[in-house]
Amino acid sequence: MINPYTFGMDSSSRPTTSSTPSGAADASDLRYLEDRVDRLSLICMAMWSLLQDKTKLTEEDLMERVKMLDLMDGKEDGKATKTVSKCSRCERPMNARHKKCIYCGHAKLISSAFDAL
Ligand SMILES: [Zn+2]
Repeated sequence: MINPYTFGMDSSSRPTTSSTPSGAADASDLRYLEDRVDRLSLICMAMWSLLQDKTKLTEEDLMERVKMLDLMDGKEDGKATKTVSKCSRCERPMNARHKKCIYCGHAKLISSAFDAL
């Protein structure tokens, strides 16, 4: 069993002050996010290293897959941008960040582990 605390994923370590009075992120928010991205990058590097050791996958295979997934949102920008989807009940636009439709309250269907991010 993986211990999330080993990877510093304890959500209680997040700064309690989430923004300045103006609504902009403060330095502690940015530091928290940078640390989190660094930890996630390290875990991705470890997973890729394991895959290379256990399979015949190459850097070219990885880069080809990154490019293919990057293009799934319609533009090659080095990011996996979440797009607007449609509510499966009322068919109105649904923000990728929302777990329920703001119009009818229908819960978003989760079809991938990444939908819950
Ligand atoms: Zn709806």
